[in-house]
Amino acid sequence: MQKIAIIGGGAIGITLANYLDTTKYDVTLFDDESGQATKASAGIISPWLSKRRNKRWYRLARDGAAFFQKLVSDMKISEKIYAKNGTILLRKNGLQDLANLAEQRKKDAPEIGEINLLSAKQTADKLPLLAPQESLYISGGARLDGLLYLNHMKKLAKQKQVHLVQEKVTINKKNNLWQIKTKAQQFLADYIILAAGPNCKTLLDPLGYQVDLRPQKGQLIVFKTQQGQSKQWPVTMLDNEADLIPANDGQMIIGATHEDEAQWDLQPTSAAFEKLTSNSKDFLQTPEKLLENSFTYRVGTRAYTSDFAPFFGSLPNDPTLFVASGLGSSGLTTGPYIGYLLAEYLNKGNWSTEDYQKTLDNYIQPRSF
Ligand SMILES: Cc1cc2nc3c(=O)[nH]c(=O)nc-3n(C[C@H](O)[C@H](O)[C@H](O)COP(=O)(O)OP(=O)(O)OC[C@H]3O[C@@H](n4cnc5c(N)ncnc54)[C@H](O)[C@@H]3O)c2cc1C
Repeated sequence: MQKIAIIGGGAIGITLANYLDTTKYDVTLFDDESGQATKASAGIISPWLSKRRNKRWYRLARDGAAFFQKLVSDMKISEKIYAKNGTILLRKNGLQDLANLAEQRKKDAPEIGEINLLSAKQTADKLPLLAPQESLYISGGARLDGLLYLNHMKKLAKQKQVHLVQEKVTINKKNNLWQIKTKAQQFLADYIILAAGPNCKTLLDPLGYQVDLRPQKGQLIVFKTQQGQSKQWPVTMLDNEADLIPANDGQMIIGATHEDEAQWDLQPTSAAFEKLTSNSKDFLQTPEKLLENSFTYRVGTRAYTSDFAPFFGSLPNDPTLFVASGLGSSGLTTGPYIGYLLAEYLNKGNWSTEDYQKTLDNYIQPRSF
C-alpha cells in the first residue's frame, strides 16, 4: 500500500485525510498545532457579495461554500459546528445595489438562497443585539466553528485508520521516498502533501524552493452575552472591518483583525480589543451590554500570497510533492473544498482546477543557486 504523509491538519489537511481512500493509501497526518488558523477561527461562509475582483478566487469560494452541503452530509456535521442561519449585510448606502448583485450571482450560486431587503425592525428581529437599521439578508450564509470542526474531523479520521501524529516535522527526499522527521522518529512516504499554512515556505526552503507566502496575525474577541439563545442568529457583516459571528451557548464573536506586521505573534492585544469594539459599537443596540461582558480572545496565523489567492496541487517537476496554502481570510470557505479536490485527485485522478487558480509556478519556484 502506498504511503501518504500530510503535513498540517487545518481545514485543508484534516478534510483531505477524511476523503482519502484508506483502502488504497496508508495515511499519516502530522500537525504540531502551533499557530493554526483553523483552530482560532469562527468563520463566515458567505463569499457571494465580496468586493474582490479575482474571478478565479470567486469561483473557488462559491464552489467551496456550495460544497458544505456534501461535507455536512458525508461527515455528519452537527449544527453546533456548521449552522446555516443566513447573513445580514449592513451598509449605510447601496443596499439595493447589493441586492441586485446577489440576484445576479444567484444565477450560478443558488446556495445564496432567499434575498430580502429588511426594514430596521426586521433586522433587529433577526439579531436582537443589533440596533434597528435597514439591511440585506441572504438565507444561504453560514458559520463554521473551526475548532469544533477540527475536533469532529479528527475523531472521524481516527475511525478511518488515519494515523495522527502531534509533532513538528521537517522533510527531505531520498531514494525517491519522502523522509518526515520528528524529534524522535523518522517516517517514510511515497507522497507528501504540505498543508502547513504559511509554514509551507519554511518546509520547502531546504528543498531549494522559493515560495510566495507570508504570515498574518488575526484576532477575534469572544463575548458571553446574557441571551442564552444564539442558535438561530445569522452572521452579520458590518459596514467596516468587523463582523459579528454568533457561536454556541449565547456567545458572540467580533472579528477579525488583519495584522501584517505582527506575522507569527500569537499574543492577544488590547489594541485589537479597542479596534474591534469601536468598529462594532455603532451597530449594536446597547453596546455596553455586550462589550462589558467577560470575553476571551482567539488568535491565529493566516497565510497570504502576493495576489491574495490560494494555490494547491502537485509540483510540475515532482508529482509526489503537493502543496496547498495561501488561503488568507477566506480559508474556512475554500479550505475544506481544496482538501476534497486533492483527495479526488489522489483517489481517482480527477483534476480540473484551472478555473480556480493560476498555475503553481506563480507561487513556487526552484531557487537558482
Ligand atoms: C482570526 C481568524 C478569523 C478567520 N475568519 C475566517 C472567516 O470568517 N471565514 C473564512 O472563510 N476564513 C476565515 N479565516 C481564515 C481561515 O481560518 C484560514 O484561511 C484556514 O483555516 C487555513 O487553513 P489551512 O488548512 O490552510 O491552515 P491552518 O489552519 O493554519 O493549518 C496548518 C497547520 O499546519 C501545522 N504546521 C505548520 N508547520 C508544521 C510542521 N513543520 N510540522 C507539523 N505541523 C505543522 C500548523 O500548526 C497548523 O496546525 C480566519 C482566520 C483567522 C486567523
